Amino acid sequence: AAKDAGRNTFQFYNASFYERVQRRVTLEQELRQALARDEFHLAFQPTLSLRDGSVACIESLLRWRTASGELRSPAEFIPVAEECGEIIPIGRWVLAQACRQARLWHEAGLQFGRIAVNVSALQLRDPEFATHVLQACARERWPSDRLVLEITESALMRDSEVLRTTFDMFKANGITLAIDDFGTGFSNLGYLHRFPVRTLKIDRSFVSQMDQASNMLELTHAVVSLGHALGLGVVAEGVETENVLQLLRQQGCDEAQGYLFTRPLPGEEMATWLAAQA
Ligand code: C2E
Ligand code: MG
Ligand code: MG
Ligand code: MG
Repeated sequence: AAKDAGRNTFQFYNASFYERVQRRVTLEQELRQALARDEFHLAFQPTLSLRDGSVACIESLLRWRTASGELRSPAEFIPVAEECGEIIPIGRWVLAQACRQARLWHEAGLQFGRIAVNVSALQLRDPEFATHVLQACARERWPSDRLVLEITESALMRDSEVLRTTFDMFKANGITLAIDDFGTGFSNLGYLHRFPVRTLKIDRSFVSQMDQASNMLELTHAVVSLGHALGLGVVAEGVETENVLQLLRQQGCDEAQGYLFTRPLPGEEMATWLAAQA
């Protein structure tokens, strides 16, 4: 047994493990410098109303181009930014940037409903979060009732005094929540009533398979029914085909987002896309 343990220990410290640790440390160091070096920008992706085709919402998605010109995926660096706390300053930057861009589009006469910003669990637990959100809206001159914060179910699992105070402030100022990747988390759904939730976003993993697997079709149907029973809007993310869009319409889904309409675009390209849409 000792021999086995020894062997396992040896494998644990093999080169690939060491490389992963190194890579992680480097990523963290680069992440801490990225804001100051102006390496972030936002991409934007619309959500369309399935009733009238209008642009109901525009989601802000963080992009990071490192000094070496490499484009890093948020799926890779957001979890690291959360673990090292860097997501707090980065999140503040995203919020201000998104509100500013929304106001600029509005001033250019472009039509859309709300701007959405993704928010991580760590930001939500920050007692100053609500104040910062309201300050960003005021400073960037963007009406708070046209701001949606996208939050995952898991971020809402731990109920707390901070969370309640935050959401009371949001409620008072018309800031609403969208539950992102809905269906992938585990929670009792009580928070849907307690918090200012406006929308459920059905996870892409379900939506993309709707036309291939009948259980996925049933799942999205169930989410649409649940959302409507609770008086919530339902958005499907990751719509890539006309086929899937047709099925969502049949199910009475309210809004859709995905490559079928457009990939996420930089602010100026989004403006062109919005103008063409009108
Ligand atoms: P999310 O909020 O669920 O965003 C949707 C993701 O799906 C985006 O990936 C988007 O580019 C992608 N997507 C949209 N439509 C389609 C489609 O039709 N097909 C496919 N294959 N993909 C589609 P992205 O931009 O790589 O972002 C990944 C995740 O990173 C986001 O998932 C969100 O959880 C997180 N994230 C992005 N920006 C931020 C941010 O500013 N703050 C925080 N906390 N998280 C962020
Ligand atoms: Mg999102
Ligand atoms: Mg999502
Ligand atoms: Mg998702």
